[in-house]
Amino acid sequence: MTAKERDILQSNLSKQGIETEISVAIEEAAELTKELTKKLRGMSSDKKICEEIADLQIVLDQLTMYFDPDDEKIRLFRQFKIKRLDMFYVKGDHQ
Ligand SMILES: [Mg+2]
Repeated sequence: MTAKERDILQSNLSKQGIETEISVAIEEAAELTKELTKKLRGMSSDKKICEEIADLQIVLDQLTMYFDPDDEKIRLFRQFKIKRLDMFYVKGDHQ
């Protein structure tokens, strides 16, 4: 994310407030869910799914700014969970 994008998202978060952005996150997650289920039925496009992923990423960036401004807790959770994926599913240590 560029510094300019970060400023825009931070300004939007400050203007709209966390309650609104939580609502938007729920809506965007539902919209991506809808497109993914449509994809399974052959009724969506990769372009539409990419649009919904972008929408969700934008609002998740704002939630990150609010809940984990230093991005440290999320980074550590990601690191742990990606390592767990590698152990259990990539290397097959789950059997
Ligand atoms: Mg959307």
